[in-house]
Amino acid sequence: MDKECPHCHALKFKNEPAGMCCASGKVQLPEIETPPEPLNGLLIGTDPDSNVFLKSIRRFNSCFQMTSFGATEIVQNTNANGQQFNSTFKIRGQVYHKMASLLPMPNEPHKFLQIYFMGGEDSGSALANRVNARCDYNNLDSLYARRIVSELDALLNELNELLKIFKSHMHQLQSDNHAIVINPDKTPSWRAYS
Ligand SMILES: [Zn+2]
Repeated sequence: MDKECPHCHALKFKNEPAGMCCASGKVQLPEIETPPEPLNGLLIGTDPDSNVFLKSIRRFNSCFQMTSFGATEIVQNTNANGQQFNSTFKIRGQVYHKMASLLPMPNEPHKFLQIYFMGGEDSGSALANRVNARCDYNNLDSLYARRIVSELDALLNELNELLKIFKSHMHQLQSDNHAIVINPDKTPSWRAYS
């Protein structure tokens, strides 16, 4: 990759055309902002627990997912012994994200977006409950991992715009019959009921 675009400085392989990265300077992306702390330190290695974070970064990411990926049909291969396996991840039909209800069903643990609403207002015990739920669900059990999850939970609660909107609307819900429709431009095919 030694061909450098004079406009955006993208490095390209030999046969990649001149305009494929930024249309020869017509597309100008904003600078990527430095993430807030402690996320930045965890990513660039200045945080003392950065190695714990980077080694299991997908599990930490899963700790904070709001929805679960779903598809109407997941296609599997069958080997000679009749066992099913996924050579590549193949799906058919509609792709959607399951959000379920904003509050868990009776006797069910909090999952996904529900964890963000555990314990009502942000008291110390509510934070501890959320950290427990996130770590248990993703098999993270070290003190270092719990500290990271705790700090990222606080960070998201403070800065994530989507969460702020959700939390402000939660207080306005008058009954159990409200539906939140995520994509109003299309016929809603997935909804969250509270
Ligand atoms: Zn370019």
